[in-house]
Amino acid sequence: MKTIKTGWIGLGTMGTPMCSQLIKAQYSVTVYNRSKDKEQAVIAMGAAVASTPAQVMEESNIIFIMVSDDDAINEIFGGDNGLLAAKVTGRIIINMSSVSPGISKKYAELCKQAGNRYLDAPVSGSLKQAQEAQLVIMVGGEADIFTIAKPLLECLGKLVMHIGDTGAGNTAKLAINTLLGIQAQGLAEAVAFAQHNGISSSNLLTLINNSALASPFVKIKGDAIIANNFTPAFALKHIVKDLGLAANEGMTSPLGSMAYNTYKEASEQLADEDIIAIYKQFI
Ligand code: NAP
Repeated sequence: MKTIKTGWIGLGTMGTPMCSQLIKAQYSVTVYNRSKDKEQAVIAMGAAVASTPAQVMEESNIIFIMVSDDDAINEIFGGDNGLLAAKVTGRIIINMSSVSPGISKKYAELCKQAGNRYLDAPVSGSLKQAQEAQLVIMVGGEADIFTIAKPLLECLGKLVMHIGDTGAGNTAKLAINTLLGIQAQGLAEAVAFAQHNGISSSNLLTLINNSALASPFVKIKGDAIIANNFTPAFALKHIVKDLGLAANEGMTSPLGSMAYNTYKEASEQLADEDIIAIYKQFI
């Protein structure tokens, strides 16, 4: 077992396989998830469990967070049981959730005042990449803290890059997810157009997958369309959140704005389905 003690908060679609990589790499991990049933899979692998985020902070040197959004981050840091309530110093908190640069700046400052440090380290990649430790990880924060965190982040991803000051990781992630939203909508529109004109999804995707437009994303999401399988790997509600955050940061360009409106409208019906369920809007 390695000497650094780690903590993990947030065991959803991404958090569970990411936390599992730390356990596989022989780190001791203390976990917390709001819904207790989701803790079971990593407990079975050897994780210890804490009853509050503050307890995770007390028992760990480096604490990872992978939760939904800014509201969830406020919940994890705030209140009597939150991270900021723990009376400990020298901790490093690594927030891997896709959240606003503003909330990272707020908690980086509060952590520093309490004698702890904060990195924003959102990820590109989805369930499959998390399960295979092939995520792309973009980090904002102080360079010396990044150097300490890097070997642990390398257990989770194939590329770990320091992008700049606090919030820079979040900003890079919003740029990437703007492209993701546009690409998913583009794929959905192309398949629907072909279908309306008598070309099967399967034939069109065979053509695309053998063309210069082929990509891992098109392959995975194209297969999902063919299989009519919209089980969320990346829930549509999360792209609405990310495009909304990008809009707040000044993303007003034509395709990004249009994609934001399309997903917002679709989320009334499809929020908890996968992002590529946007296809259903066009058939
Ligand atoms: P998810 O499956 O919906 O899991 C969300 C996690 O956040 C759960 O552990 C949930 O706890 C927790 N949570 C939500 N609201 C909370 C609150 N108010 N207080 C405490 N905990 C709260 O989401 P995910 O797909 O793992 O995504 C997590 C983050 O990674 C998101 O920011 C997402 O945008 C980003 N991301 C996702 C993907 C992907 O492909 N899925 C890829 C890259 C980045 P409960 O279990 O109690 O609900």
